[in-house]
Amino acid sequence: MTQYHLLCDEARETLWPDPTGPAPVEARQHFDECLACQRFFTVQQALGRRLERLRKITVPDHLRERVRAAIAAERPAQRRGWWVAAGLAAAATLAIGIGLRGPGGDDLAMPFVAEAARVLTPPATFQSSDASEIESWLQVQVGTEVQLPDIADATLMGGRVVNVAGIRTPAAVYDLRGTPLTYFAVPSAEVAGFSASPGSDLMAASADGFEVMVWGEPNGLRAVAARMPRAEIRTIADECRTKALRGLSF
Ligand SMILES: [Zn+2]
Repeated sequence: MTQYHLLCDEARETLWPDPTGPAPVEARQHFDECLACQRFFTVQQALGRRLERLRKITVPDHLRERVRAAIAAERPAQRRGWWVAAGLAAAATLAIGIGLRGPGGDDLAMPFVAEAARVLTPPATFQSSDASEIESWLQVQVGTEVQLPDIADATLMGGRVVNVAGIRTPAAVYDLRGTPLTYFAVPSAEVAGFSASPGSDLMAASADGFEVMVWGEPNGLRAVAARMPRAEIRTIADECRTKALRGLSF
């Protein structure tokens, strides 16, 4: 992984709880350059203020356990980070509202959302509605074979080579009844500290109005990102994944 993302967890622990306090220069520099970490502290500070107002409320043990179980079931296992564990005991009620929209989800979503938001902008853009043309173009750009899924009701708009958390990634943009949707074929099993193996559950994340679904395939992670309801993008991700498992594309 890139140094940038290896440092996120470290920077957060170093800067916790106040990113404006005294800190080693590496952590400070990381924070200044890392949108995900800046967002993380913004969310944490807002949460802290809400907790402050709620501190007299005692959360019954049985509720705390239920929330813990619900979150454990929803969140990707590898992102049950220290902040989630630390926050849980005190913030059981608030955690219900945060759910997958918490900072862990943002970390996974941001690298994809930053690119999905650009849709088809130069450079490294190839406009076509023909899957095999786009696949050939992408293959020349990245040097490995790329196969694009057929997505029901969607037409291809083109291909792009994008930067997903430092990883040069072939991507395709689809038009789904007027909504642009970006498909990412990340040539790595790990992005921003998240990893997934073929056949594992979809990882859901969201940021800036985009919903992102990430899953593992034998040759790396795949993701779809679009501004659409989570249920809808989950269906599309399931469709892409099912085709991949059948060997029709990957
Ligand atoms: Zn960071």
